[in-house]
Amino acid sequence: MNAASGARLVFDFADGDRTQADLLGGKGANLAEMTRLGLPVPPGFTVSTEACRHYLARGTEPAELREQVTAALRRLEDTLGRRLGDVEDPLLVSVRSGAKVSMPGMMDTILNVGLNDHSVKGLAAAARDERFAWDSYRRLIQMFGRTVLGVRAELFDDELAAAKARAAVATDVELPVAALRELVESFNQIVVTQSGREFPQDPREQLDLAIRAVFDSWNTERARIYRRRERIPHDLGTAVNVCAMVFGNLGQTSGTGVAFTRDPATGRPGVYGDYLPNAQGEDVVAGIRNTESLDDLAGRDPRAHAELTRIMRLLETHYRDLCDIEFTIERGTLWMLQTRIGQRTAAAAFRIAAHLIDEEVITLDEALTRVTGHQLAQLMFPQFDAGTPATPITTGMAASPGAVVGEVVFDSAAAVARAAAGAQVLLCRRETSPDDLEGMIAAAGVLTSRGGKTSHAAVVARGMGRACVCGAEEIDIDAPERVLRVGDLVVAEGDILSIDGTTGEVFAGARPVVPSPVATYLEQGLDIALKGLDADAADLVRSVDRLLRHADGSRRLTVRANADTAEDAAHARRLGAQGVGLCRTEHMFLGERRVLIERLVLADSAEARSAALAELLPLQRADFVALLTAMDGLPTTIRLLDAPLHEFLPDRTELAIRVAVTEATGGSADPQDARLLGAVQRRHESNPMLGLRGVRLALVVPGLFAMQVRAIAEAAAARIAAGGRPRVEIMVPLVASVMELHLVRDEIDAIIAEVAERAGVSLRIPIGTMIELPRAALTADRIAEAAEFFSFGTNDLTQTTWGFSRDDVEAAIFVAYLAQGVFAVSPFESLDREGVGALVRMAAAAGRRTRPGLTLGVCGEHGGDPESVHFFHEAGLDYVSCSPYRIPVARLEAGRAALAADPGGATA
Ligand code: ADP
Ligand code: MG
Ligand code: MG
Repeated sequence: MNAASGARLVFDFADGDRTQADLLGGKGANLAEMTRLGLPVPPGFTVSTEACRHYLARGTEPAELREQVTAALRRLEDTLGRRLGDVEDPLLVSVRSGAKVSMPGMMDTILNVGLNDHSVKGLAAAARDERFAWDSYRRLIQMFGRTVLGVRAELFDDELAAAKARAAVATDVELPVAALRELVESFNQIVVTQSGREFPQDPREQLDLAIRAVFDSWNTERARIYRRRERIPHDLGTAVNVCAMVFGNLGQTSGTGVAFTRDPATGRPGVYGDYLPNAQGEDVVAGIRNTESLDDLAGRDPRAHAELTRIMRLLETHYRDLCDIEFTIERGTLWMLQTRIGQRTAAAAFRIAAHLIDEEVITLDEALTRVTGHQLAQLMFPQFDAGTPATPITTGMAASPGAVVGEVVFDSAAAVARAAAGAQVLLCRRETSPDDLEGMIAAAGVLTSRGGKTSHAAVVARGMGRACVCGAEEIDIDAPERVLRVGDLVVAEGDILSIDGTTGEVFAGARPVVPSPVATYLEQGLDIALKGLDADAADLVRSVDRLLRHADGSRRLTVRANADTAEDAAHARRLGAQGVGLCRTEHMFLGERRVLIERLVLADSAEARSAALAELLPLQRADFVALLTAMDGLPTTIRLLDAPLHEFLPDRTELAIRVAVTEATGGSADPQDARLLGAVQRRHESNPMLGLRGVRLALVVPGLFAMQVRAIAEAAAARIAAGGRPRVEIMVPLVASVMELHLVRDEIDAIIAEVAERAGVSLRIPIGTMIELPRAALTADRIAEAAEFFSFGTNDLTQTTWGFSRDDVEAAIFVAYLAQGVFAVSPFESLDREGVGALVRMAAAAGRRTRPGLTLGVCGEHGGDPESVHFFHEAGLDYVSCSPYRIPVARLEAGRAALAADPGGATA
């Protein structure tokens, strides 16, 4: 190795370990780890992600890469005593992509690199199996042609199908040697006509071109789409693994398989896997022949099976988690080709975490790092109603849970188009490939007729949280004709099917859907939820309960609800809300009460105004009494009216037309209409979001806020009189300057004092403000003089910090912004830490400098977003407030955030 020429770019498997995924990619790091553990991994080496980054930035490989690959290759050849592509006894290798996180869209692995017209004969002689050698060679040309030279896969597939037809055999393994030789010839011909060049005969050239093709695959469209969706940075690059070949296609004592150390769909304990004799590489997941189970393997080859079982147990103990593995058996000898922490469904994540606690493999704290709020949200999805039984038209494999009723579509484009039109779609394919990614994203569920639980469809659907039934073999999917058939039943595109990804069942038509047991548990508690559940579902509910309770015990953030009505508040309370962080009062002025607002706006005298307000007062008071009853004993923050007044008035254009039409037809307009039109026109704003709303209303439209405050204070007094414990707080919206707050506070304090005095009770009602304008954040030290709490209104704070009008930009601008990487996720979905987050941190610190006991919360939609919850924890807030249905997610994430910040336990 030439140290002077720069960095080391190539690492033997024997040199690395699992911590080096940044440099070696996930696959390379885990191959190194297995090698380090002494497991039977074929030797090889990894070209680092750094080499890839260099290549992507400059368009050429780093100068030192060539000789480093040569050196590594020679070490490999010396270890095995064979030379790459040797004509007598060739060393063959696989070239495998492997980024830090596994990623569809990356280049497919090329197996059997090193074969050519000469070494194929050496391989046949060395293995004493001519069929095997020619099968390996045709696979190399096929994979190389497709992935390196860009030849369409169907051309090879069609040729293979034709060869099978000519030989009158059903599967590839039955093809005789002569047919395989002919295939090599016709594949070569396809390569020449399609790519304009010969398949390279020089083994080293094959290797170098394949490595470069892996680098290039980092930037394919599919890879980019996936990274965008998964928020993976575009500049990581991929590693390339070069691994000595072992052969599963050497007859019946050989084969290839994939396995999980636990069931990744349900989380049930016990190994799970698929095995395919006499096969190579991805045959086992591609659905070309029916696979066998690990039990079948135990019957076939007890020794290899025992070894595999021992290794799986060892890996699980070592990684302390569910692992998935790829293995090959070559003439009775087991080889490990890959392992990683396995993907799993949401249900499996909770159950496995709980089981691993019971098995004393991990602690409760660590278990909480193994589940996410996104997964909990998935478990809250509804399921098919067991009370309305239906007979499935067929049953496939339960690949990813969820009950989906959807409109049948047969390709990705149709899925995208129908979903965009608002339909819930079910993507039906024989099997899926990375080309179907966009369709799978658009679909609510995926149904395939081929492939097992580890097929592409199953793995990707699980990762995306889409329901999936795969390998429903009785279904004949005829995509060109746009129909599928099950027995006599014909289902056309646009027809409705229901699939259950938890059982694998497929139903004709739409089945009714009911709440999930986890949702029932969250709403009604453990005892009620457990009634009548089967063992798996009961285990799941208990696992969720256990982890959620641990999160509750660990978190520092409290979780409140955004709830505008007593019903919403009560619902939120059942879901674990510890208060209401935001009760919007806007809706209380709609419906039949709207005329009262109209009267208020039209009032031309103090008496008229008072009369209108006096009518609103008891209605408002009743709203608040109901709310405070539902939230008795818990903090309840009521926000004074925020919306612009014109939102409660008739539409300006409609009104103008009505008046104009009446006048044009010779009549004189209704005087009420004419006055309203005048008022509406006076109040018209070109940008209402930045106009007369929030605290500005209090200072411009006298009486309105006062009425609301009086209703709140009287409601609290009434609750006290009734023996309740109201803990109401009043929140003033859209404050930019402490002066605004001082002015309204004077009025608010006076009203509360007067109500308390008259009712003969003591009212303690904290008064605080939203921090939702940059100026408020910047002058938070001053604002805290007049505020007893801050609640960050992160929706408006995001709008005003970015200068985005949400309704306008989301549709028009965000697609381009996301595509071009201005941000990886919408700042309305997940808090923009750098910008809006900086204002939150600054205001929190400044507020607490002025008033050390200042309560800090957030009531924007970010309060229920998992990533944002972690930020609010770090920023030192006291609570997050979110929609009721997101409360369990916020509880779980707040617990996770506390543990992430202080892995030893919750912070004091
Ligand atoms: P992927 O990331 O798509 O799983 P892999 O690099 O793991 O791609 O390889 C694809 C298939 O080829 C897998 O089934 C793997 O086990 C198999 N494979 C890879 N390298 C070898 C090898 N050296 N010998 C035999 N099979 C291999
Ligand atoms: Mg693959
Ligand atoms: Mg693999």
